[in-house]
Amino acid sequence: MSVDSLLEQTKEVLREVLPETIEVTDIELEGPHIVLYTKQLDAFLSGGDLLRQVAQRLRRRVLVRSDPATLMEPKEAETAIRELIPPEAEITGLFFEPETGEVSIEAANPGAAIGRQGAVLTELKRKIGWVPTVVRTPPIPSKTVEEVRVHLRNHFDQRRSFLKKVGTRISRDRLDEKIWARSSSLGGYREVGRSASLLSTQNSKVLIDCGIDPGSDRTPFLSAPELLPLDSLDAVVITHSHLDHCGLVPVLLKYGYQGPIYTTAPTRDMMTLMLLDAIKVTSQEARQKLYDSSHVRDMVTRTIPLRWGETTDITPDLRLTLHNAGHILGSSICHFHIGDGDHNLAYSGDVKFERSWLFNPAVNRFPRLETLVLESTYGGYRDVQPSRQQASDEFAGFVSKVLERHGKLIVPVFAVGRSQEVMLVLEERMREGRIPRVPVYLDGMIFEATAIHTAYPEYLNSQLRTQIFQQGDNPFLSDIFHRVDSSQMRMGILDEKEPCIVLATSGMMSGGPVMEYFRAWAADEKHGIVFVGYQADGTFGRRLQRGLNEAQLFDNGRQYTTPVRLEVATIEGFSGHSDRVQLMNYVASLDPRPQRIILNHGEESKTLDLASSLHKRFNLESRVPFNLDAVRLV
Ligand SMILES: [Zn+2]
Repeated sequence: MSVDSLLEQTKEVLREVLPETIEVTDIELEGPHIVLYTKQLDAFLSGGDLLRQVAQRLRRRVLVRSDPATLMEPKEAETAIRELIPPEAEITGLFFEPETGEVSIEAANPGAAIGRQGAVLTELKRKIGWVPTVVRTPPIPSKTVEEVRVHLRNHFDQRRSFLKKVGTRISRDRLDEKIWARSSSLGGYREVGRSASLLSTQNSKVLIDCGIDPGSDRTPFLSAPELLPLDSLDAVVITHSHLDHCGLVPVLLKYGYQGPIYTTAPTRDMMTLMLLDAIKVTSQEARQKLYDSSHVRDMVTRTIPLRWGETTDITPDLRLTLHNAGHILGSSICHFHIGDGDHNLAYSGDVKFERSWLFNPAVNRFPRLETLVLESTYGGYRDVQPSRQQASDEFAGFVSKVLERHGKLIVPVFAVGRSQEVMLVLEERMREGRIPRVPVYLDGMIFEATAIHTAYPEYLNSQLRTQIFQQGDNPFLSDIFHRVDSSQMRMGILDEKEPCIVLATSGMMSGGPVMEYFRAWAADEKHGIVFVGYQADGTFGRRLQRGLNEAQLFDNGRQYTTPVRLEVATIEGFSGHSDRVQLMNYVASLDPRPQRIILNHGEESKTLDLASSLHKRFNLESRVPFNLDAVRLV
């Protein structure tokens, strides 16, 4: 359908649905949404389910806003907002957006600001004309979340015209012929790293993930003819913020991609943090920069955040819905409804089918599903891990042992995911008195990543959410945690006499603050180091894990040797990936069960092993494409 006929159809529907007293003064496309402007917002919103009827008839997401002429003066509106919203909501900021007629209210308790079934907001809307949206004041202030919000506010005009363009493009006519669709493997097939897949039909081209290979800096096959020119792409969809899935998004923008990026809001923020940090690391290591911070900011402007379960038209023949993948904050399975239900395809991204300390298990129910693209990191026959509970007990046991002999403990961690899990285990066990209560220092990006988690509690598992919301004791705010925010503070910790725990990056000990603690404490057998994450071949972490009597280290460019006497332990079971058993259980529990599974994101032997087991056990078609292969879906 073209834009003109969509607008015609919208007018037609409005004529049929709306009573004569409600007049729509303007209709606009904004990304995947249709926006209606009216002078009778109050009547529109209180007139039963008018909005829902309009949306249903149009099969589109519809927003309704006040005609700019009806908006109350911001000063007056602010007074009204502060009168109507109860004080327990604790408003920390008010931002008026004249272009959309929205006012965003930052509140410590969004529930109180919203009211029962949105009662407070509905009343506000009637009174001030502005459409209020409530955002949570992060309980731990996050620099990244704040910067993203400020950036979006400052680039409002640019973003508005961008969304209009996207909306027009989504509504273009589609070719009137029988639909075909295929999935091209552009990276991360028969390997781990540089994930990228292209979903194409005769009408659409959508790239799912665009990552780097952290081990080697290899990139996906971005010069594949089906991907070029980059501005022929309709959309980029990102499953989650690990760099092997999103590390090259700024490069797409640098080389001419002009369309939208769809992902969850926490993934957008976490991606921003990770990509900006990657620039810093690259320049410290004097490697060539692939992009700069202007491309990351551009990415933020072009990101259209979607909530889990919200279905959105992203091209004339593709509808996208994101679902929880259980892997890290905001991580999503991307479900595509192709054509008029001709085919349904889901990309798992990295997926965890077990309830973790942070997240619910991955979603396994879909309205329809014919093909699943599934990761297979731990798909090998022997890749069986202990449960979270066992892992936590084992971890706590080692912590106690080191602390009780008056030692200090180093935990090398990735900033996102594992560090927050370890924090939760430590907090719980210390609160219950099951391990000695000592300070826990967070060094590297961990604190900032944790702050982003607390800004999006609705993406955490229900138990943790209840703990944060209803019991009012956010475990991340516990006073056992201390942020290491200066090198003086770090020096102080290195010399401290009392036992303590340090969580520091990098997770594989390939540099970062963790090395300073290791250098200081390696020679004393009282201390300990415990690995909770995957250690890749060739990293210092892997060598230490295998046993070292002495280590060659660098300090200010000077090489020296230090004896390694501290106790080294490895705890399995904290992984954000499903192990072999969980992958098989995931497929067994899928509703509906797909006819075909395409495997990626795994070493070749593991992927092949999983593929043959899936075929044997479920009698479905399992495929293991090479990079640059394409699988025809329909
Ligand atoms: Zn991942």
